[in-house]
This record gives sequence, structure tokens and C-alpha cells, in this order.
Amino acid sequence: MDYEIIENYELKKHTTFKIGGCAKRAYIPQTIEAFVEILKNTQNPIILGACSNVLISSLGVDDDVILTTKLNKFSVEGNKIHAQCGVKVPMISREAEQKGLSGMEFMIGFPGSVGGAVYMNASAHSQSISDTFLSCHIFDNDKKEVIELNKDEMMFGYRSSIMQKKNYILLDAIFELRPETKENITAIMERNLEFRKGKQPNLAMPNAGSIFRNPPNDSAGRLLEKAGVKGLKYGGAQVWMGHANFIINEHNADSKDVSHLMNKMYNMVKDKYTIELVPEVKFIGKMSEEEVEIWNTMLKK
Ligand SMILES: Cc1cc2nc3c(=O)[nH]c(=O)nc-3n(C[C@H](O)[C@H](O)[C@H](O)COP(=O)(O)OP(=O)(O)OC[C@H]3O[C@@H](n4cnc5c(N)ncnc54)[C@H](O)[C@@H]3O)c2cc1C
Repeated sequence: MDYEIIENYELKKHTTFKIGGCAKRAYIPQTIEAFVEILKNTQNPIILGACSNVLISSLGVDDDVILTTKLNKFSVEGNKIHAQCGVKVPMISREAEQKGLSGMEFMIGFPGSVGGAVYMNASAHSQSISDTFLSCHIFDNDKKEVIELNKDEMMFGYRSSIMQKKNYILLDAIFELRPETKENITAIMERNLEFRKGKQPNLAMPNAGSIFRNPPNDSAGRLLEKAGVKGLKYGGAQVWMGHANFIINEHNADSKDVSHLMNKMYNMVKDKYTIELVPEVKFIGKMSEEEVEIWNTMLKK
């Protein structure tokens, strides 16, 4: 079979936050067939793409973990792009640019995979993954079978899709783009990259993108900034001075440091505005007692 199994696999090296303990058992499939085979034979595995939107517990992960990094093939036919779930989104953004296809210019600026981007309907600069999404293959982990879903069936919303409600795992997806001149596409991509400079930490300062979702008709960054969280620290984690909705792993932070810092940010906005922010970053793995309390409060469990 085309997959590796690694015991006690250190996840820290895999995450953009550079935080995370070991997965007791990690599977790394190289083909979609092998991925499906693993999914059929594991209970409720945790699927990880580029690990750019997760906080992985420093205590590690007991559940089986499947890393999609090697499911990284994609092809272009006419104005359609067919991508496996592990493809890094900037790669297809660049390929679309080369082929004169518009709709993925926004993906040049963040380090996610197709699976993670579809799961949470990634968006930026007035574009979202749902704009170009046509159809996909999903593994329904309750029925243990592969199904095909179209755009309507994916029920995309702001940072959401049906995958968050059902036990669905993305295998691959097809996107339909719009023909455009390469010059125009390049200009949009350059503008997007320029926009991020100074507004988002680059990965030399390990981070996991926006920490909280925007509440309806407002911006989490604006509320956090007004609440005065910029520069706040907990252990090795710090709210980035450039934008209040980013936490950077300033010095060997662990998941507890980040959770406590998020708790402070959450409470400061709640006290000032009576708005309860919802985390965008997903916590994965074993929680300490403090983490259980903090995350149960933020997720209203
Ligand atoms: C510097 C920086 C900038 C960012 N900017 C943006 C931005 O502008 N817009 C934006 O939307 N996001 C942004 N992000 C967040 C992140 O990059 C995206 O949300 C990305 O799409 C997540 O993909 P991933 O592969 O890293 O997901 P992961 O972090 O690996 O996983 C995130 C979630 O998706 C699930 N998942 C992953 N793959 C699959 C699969 N195949 N099937 C089912 N579930 C799966 C995981 O289980 C997890 O719950 C940014 C992050 C960073 C670090």
C-alpha cells in the first residue's frame, strides 16, 4: 500500500505555529486510494493539511492522525483545475496565473492546503474558495463511503462548509476559473501580496493566521485592537504588534501559552464590547485542565 505509518510523529515541525506534541500514530498516504483505505480502517482520525489554521496540543494527540502532505497532485484542463486535498494553495494560484485563469489570486498569500481551504471556505481580498468550487470527492466517515458533492451541497458560508457539520473528509476537488490576461492576474496577485506586508506576520514569526473569526458586520482585529490587546504576552506567545488578531510564537510557546493568551484576548473584548469572539483556529489533541476550561468557554460548550 502507498502509505507510511510513523509512531510518535512530532507534529511541531509540521505546523506554521511551530507548536504541537507527538501524534501516537501518523499515517502519510501517497495516493487517494491509500487515503481511502486508511479512512476505512481507522475510527475517527484527525486529518491535517498544511497545519496553518490549527493549535496542536503540546501534550500530543492520542487519535490517529492522517497527514495529506503527499496528496499533492493537480492538473489543469481548459479552465478547470483538479486538485488533490494536500496541494498547497499558493501552488495552484501560481499555476492558474501561468495558464491565464482568474479566481485564485487570493490564495497566493496563505500557506494552506486545498483540504483545509475547502473545509473552512478560505477567503481573502473579496474572493473565496467557494467562488470557483465546482465539485469534489468526499469520504463520508459515518457511512465509510466515497461520495461526490457539488457546490450547493457543500453549503459554503463565511469560514464554513458542510464538512464542519458532517463527518466529511475531502479527497479532491475541481475548480472552474475564468479566463483572464496573465498581466491582470499577476497585478492582482502582487497587490494581494503587497497588502499583506506589515498587516500579517510572515512565517518567520510562527503563527496560525487569524485567531478569531470576524463577528457579524465587524472585524475581530478592530475590536481586539480597541480592547488594547496588542503586545500582550503569555509565556512564549505574544499578540503581534502589527495586527491584534494574530498571535506569534515568539519564544518556544506551547499550546497552553496560546490558549491563555486567547483567553485574555477573548475576555478583554467581552468586557469592553459584550461581544464573545469565536476562535477561527482549531485546537487539536489532548487538553490540560486549564485548556479544557478556556476552550469550553470560548466554544460555549
Ligand atoms: C500567515 C497566514 C495567513 C493566513 N491568511 C488567511 C486568509 O487570508 N484567509 C483564510 O481563509 N485563511 C488564512 N489563513 C489560515 C489558513 O492558512 C487557511 O485557513 C487554510 O485554508 C487552512 O488550510 P490547512 O491545510 O493549513 O488546514 P489545517 O490547519 O491543516 O486544518 C484546518 C482544519 O481543516 C481540516 N482539514 C484539513 N484538510 C482536510 C481534509 N482533506 N478533509 C477534511 N478536513 C480537513 C482539519 O482537520 C482542521 O480542522 C492564514 C494562515 C496563516 C499562517
